[in-house]
Parts: sequence; C-alpha cells; structure tokens
Amino acid sequence: MKIRYLGTAAAEGWPALFCSCPICTQAREQGGRNLRTRTQAILDGELLLDFPPDTYCHALQQGLELAKVHTLLVTHNHMDHWFPTDLIHRHEHFGHGAEGTLEVFGNPAVKEAFDAHILIDRFKPHPIDDVVNFHVIHGGDRFRSHGWEIIAVPADHDQREECLVYICKKGGKTVFYGHDTGVNLSDEAWALVAAERYDLISLDATMGKKTIPGYHMGLPDDEAMFQRLAQLGCVGEHTVKVINHFSHNGGMTHDQLAAWGAERGILAAYDGMEIEF
Ligand SMILES: [Zn+2]
Ligand SMILES: [Zn+2]
Ligand SMILES: [Zn+2]
Repeated sequence: MKIRYLGTAAAEGWPALFCSCPICTQAREQGGRNLRTRTQAILDGELLLDFPPDTYCHALQQGLELAKVHTLLVTHNHMDHWFPTDLIHRHEHFGHGAEGTLEVFGNPAVKEAFDAHILIDRFKPHPIDDVVNFHVIHGGDRFRSHGWEIIAVPADHDQREECLVYICKKGGKTVFYGHDTGVNLSDEAWALVAAERYDLISLDATMGKKTIPGYHMGLPDDEAMFQRLAQLGCVGEHTVKVINHFSHNGGMTHDQLAAWGAERGILAAYDGMEIEF
C-alpha cells in the first residue's frame, strides 16, 4: 500500500496566511519542505482522506487524477479538512469523463455543511446527486467502499460535532489515520484502535514541542501514544510511524521536527511525502 501526504499543515497553513513569526519567516525564506498546505492524504491513489480548500492545488502540483477517486473520508467539519463547494465540479458539466459516483463519508455536521455549500443559490441545490453520494456515519461504524474496509473511530477533538479518525484496511494492510485528535481518546475509541495491528500510523502533531490537555497533540503526546500502542501490541517492528498536521505555533521548523523523529524512528510528514509499506 502507498500513502501520499498531499498537505501537512494545520488550518492556517505554514507559513500561516498573515503571520510574521520566526517559524513562518524562516519557512518563506527557505521554501521546500518548509512550505505546507492544509492536511490531506491519499491511499493507493484511490482513497482520499479529507477535502481541504487546497485540494485543487494538490491536484495541480501533485498530478492527482481525482476523477478516478471513488471514496472520500471526511474527518470533521473544520475548514482545513472540509471545503465541500469544490465537489460541485464533479458534475458532468465540469468533470467530463468522471466515472461512477464519489462515495463521501462523514458525520452529521459534515453532511450539514455539504448541503449548505452545494446550493447554486439560496434555495436550489446543485444537481450532483448522480455523481456524489453522501453517507452519514458515526463513531464505531464499520463500512466498505470499493474494496476498502473502514472503521470510524471517535476522536478527541471539537466536542461540538462527532469528529472521526479512521482505520483503513485493504489487501492485508492496515492504516490508522489520526487527524485531528488529542490524546484523550474515549474507552470506545481505544477499544477500536487496540483491536488492530498497524502497518502505518499517522498521528496529530499540531502543537509541536508544546502539549495541551486534549483537542490536538504535541510531540510528547505522540511519543506517549506510540508507546501505549506498542504496549497494546498494535505497533510492530515493521510499523511505519508518522507525525503530521503541523502548526507554526508548535515552535519548530521542519528540520527540527524531522530530527526529533529521526531519533525515535518516526517520520515527520511533508507535502508530497510518499511511503510504500
Ligand atoms: Zn485540522
Ligand atoms: Zn507563524
Ligand atoms: Zn480540526
């Protein structure tokens, strides 16, 4: 299986849109892996994880064939993960030759935003029923789509909605995609997570060297969660460990994040990073 990290920043981007802090200034000067767009990833070029406003830019820069993507998992209704307006363009009028339907899975808040954003005007929805099929899901749900087996896990994130992270399986490989979440998963979530053995685990590292009691994770939380997953037998020698979804407010440059990870066998994601496992 392959994962490609299309974008690796938190909501404000990196450098952040209006920010002149030392991290953002350094990122603008150095470019390369210091430039991060909003978080999105794709598995085997066919299962898309989140749909941020930078999806269009990812498709351009990284040669995505989105017409061939038939499954989209949305984690939650924050703007860096869900910009549903662009789904209007999967309609035959704009997306010639896009075959079949795009199956979109998300919580009720994600569905509500979807319904609001596909309006042509204030009253009439854009006619994309034939090309985009929305499935409302909840934590604990298990479902299949185009050969993938997916488990929705309740996240420790914005309590105003049912934020989800995902376990994705295909061809004997299992991935845990943990964006966005804090470290305080519920017992229900831990039971779902602990029941699997992972080939790749991708954890939230928004806070960088800092840590907060929940909502997002920093590097000390990542280290603790990887250790707990190892104790539970979910992580083996072969498991690829990744940190992702970075904010400049974490106070670390890309090189510092990568160096921290290298000492611990953990990869710090960057835009365009592809891993085969
Ligand atoms: Zn986010
Ligand atoms: Zn900044
Ligand atoms: Zn979020």
